[in-house]
Amino acid sequence: MINFKELSKKYKTPLYVYDFENIKKNYLELKDAFKARKSLVCYAVKANSNLSVLKLLAELEAGADCVSMGEVKRAMYAGIPKYKIIFSGVGKRDDEIEEAILRDILMINIESEAEFDRVELIAAKLEKSARISIRVNPDIDAKTHPYISTGLNENKFGVDTENAKKLYIRAKNSNYIEPVGIHFHIGSQLTDLKPIEEASSIVASMLRQLKVLDIDIKFFDIGGGIGIKYEDEETIKPYDYAQAVLATLKGTDVTVVCEPGRYIVGNSGYFLTSVLYEKENSSKRFVVVDGGMNDLLRPSLYKAYHAIEAVNAKGKTSKCDVVGPVCESGDFFAKDVELPKLKNGDLLVIKSAGAYGFTMSSNYNSRGRAAEVAIEEGNDRLIRRRENFEDLIRLEKEYL
Ligand SMILES: *Cc1c(COP(=O)(O)O)cnc(C)c1O
Repeated sequence: MINFKELSKKYKTPLYVYDFENIKKNYLELKDAFKARKSLVCYAVKANSNLSVLKLLAELEAGADCVSMGEVKRAMYAGIPKYKIIFSGVGKRDDEIEEAILRDILMINIESEAEFDRVELIAAKLEKSARISIRVNPDIDAKTHPYISTGLNENKFGVDTENAKKLYIRAKNSNYIEPVGIHFHIGSQLTDLKPIEEASSIVASMLRQLKVLDIDIKFFDIGGGIGIKYEDEETIKPYDYAQAVLATLKGTDVTVVCEPGRYIVGNSGYFLTSVLYEKENSSKRFVVVDGGMNDLLRPSLYKAYHAIEAVNAKGKTSKCDVVGPVCESGDFFAKDVELPKLKNGDLLVIKSAGAYGFTMSSNYNSRGRAAEVAIEEGNDRLIRRRENFEDLIRLEKEYL
């Protein structure tokens, strides 16, 4: 058991705490589920890009799925080899494409015809060949929150199957584009296997059609998106996930690539925040805490549920909203949750905060970002110090 009270005394709040053993366990479980085939687990860096988290995964031989050159550089800095790095994302700048080609990463995931044109042009200018995969949009309803659903034609992501095929034929005939992968990613926080199975089957059938055209794809990239338990969701088991995908790939000899983010780190992280005071008006009880939406945005952005536990506080509970100090009505962590009477200094632990927590944090209201701590073999260590006032003004003060 992690001693949250002690950690909050030692490092102060607001604070992120990550259980590295749990990250390791999740990674190995998923990797193991695909053991019937060659596979590469490319961790989605955007979920939690702390260098120490990336280093832990690098040591476990994970690859990285990146959506900016900043993430590619982080992954490499932490020791993930270039040949295990994928560059995805719907909008890549020319200089990012150029650097991805020069750094010779595994592949660039192309999301549109216009992007294909840019990559080809830039590779030609460099007199290099760019390894690519194309993100196919299989037009599948992932049955998740609309903001994190990406597999329908109405979303901005990927290329429909007809156009994807045309692009592969262009790639085959290009001196500067080498098609090595095929990719799909239908959404995040997926809790239903069916849409993944359907998407995989559609994309696998395309893989076979490409083979007939003498386009030999080596990497079958199934994206990320496996959901975790935030409240009482039924989640997908890694074994079932792998079996469902592998069943669609009979008779092929591709390497399966997956890009899990949330699954690896989500339930391995906790956000610790201290109570400042309670406040009550005629209709509502508010618990005001020292963490805010700038630290953990998911409740504000997606109305996401995070379980909250009051450490040490006991007694009769009543309904309240847990709110932060930021000047927005959207600054809350929970609405109408049952908590005991709380006082200044009492500690709250917000669970399942390891993914899209710190990485989405900002300096809004000139609040320094929280510190991050790792728990490893029972020991705690700081992996990012708390931002101070000097950090906040560093890039501006010389222009006064
Ligand atoms: C966000 C994203 C992922 C990771 O999603 P999770 O839900 O965290 O697993 C993987 N691949 C791509 C292309 C993404 O955009």
